[in-house]
Amino acid sequence: MGCVVIDLHTHSSVSDGTDTPASLMSAAASAGLDVIALTDHDTTAGWSEAAAALTPGLTLVRGAELSCTSPNGRGGTATVHLLAYLFDPLAPAIVTEQSRLRAERRSRLLKMARRMAEDGYPVDPDALMASLPPDSPAGRPHLAMALVQAGMVATVDEAFQFFLNSRGRYHVSRRDTPVHTAIQMVADAGGVTVLAHAFAHHRGPTVTAEVIKELAGAGLTGLEVDHPDHDLATRTQLGALADDLGLVRTGSSDYHGTNKTIRIGQDSTSPEAFEALVAHTTGTPLITG
Ligand code: AMP
Ligand code: ZN
Ligand code: FE
Ligand code: FE
Repeated sequence: MGCVVIDLHTHSSVSDGTDTPASLMSAAASAGLDVIALTDHDTTAGWSEAAAALTPGLTLVRGAELSCTSPNGRGGTATVHLLAYLFDPLAPAIVTEQSRLRAERRSRLLKMARRMAEDGYPVDPDALMASLPPDSPAGRPHLAMALVQAGMVATVDEAFQFFLNSRGRYHVSRRDTPVHTAIQMVADAGGVTVLAHAFAHHRGPTVTAEVIKELAGAGLTGLEVDHPDHDLATRTQLGALADDLGLVRTGSSDYHGTNKTIRIGQDSTSPEAFEALVAHTTGTPLITG
């Protein structure tokens, strides 16, 4: 018996990954994964295609990565990502809030593209928006890919580095879901929440340990400790915090296909932690191919 590989954070082309949900399932099987969570940004639209494409022995955790805003513990706010698993996708609060946010994502990306076009960069804002399905969660990686195609930058990473990062001239912020609202709406829908890449400092301002403690008290179930954006020291620090607060320690790749250099299954979650998460859910079952 080989070891069990569980990757609880991946994206498909339904949000800003490059593999379709079906090809993501094949990639997971080829990489030897036993369990994969599909966690597209602010949508559950990829769930059915992924479920239909499961290969024998592969288990699918249906989830999403919710864009939230949180107090940062320093008197301001920060963007945080909540991984939500096995919730009822038809819960009215979730349906309403996620569709609001997807509309917000579109208008925000259009503004960013227009700002770049006004400054003379080879971006066609209307063509960009027309290339994205109407109710899809448009994100900066889509603009980044357009910049790569226009020859402005060599990679998506470079596009973030030079143009799209949250401190840059072209960044436009969004009205994300208040993190307490998100934790509650997922819990009400029978799911669990895990705070994603909490100390990925290079992405932008993060929250303090004090805030994570407060979220744990408000119903957060897990903390994503092992993530490609966390170095060893950060993992040690977050692992200790998870233990202290009684949060389930997870690990995941945050795979995005060719938009990032991360391999699927690069970081993973222990079977014990996975079972602890699943035990808290009633909204949507696991499915195995
Ligand atoms: P958005 O949802 O539009 O705010 O864009 C966030 C997405 O861009 C997430 O999927 C991140 O994985 C990705 N992202 C954020 N920062 C970077 C970066 N510095 N380089 C590459 N991708 C990034
Ligand atoms: Zn993403
Ligand atoms: Fe994220
Ligand atoms: Fe992600």
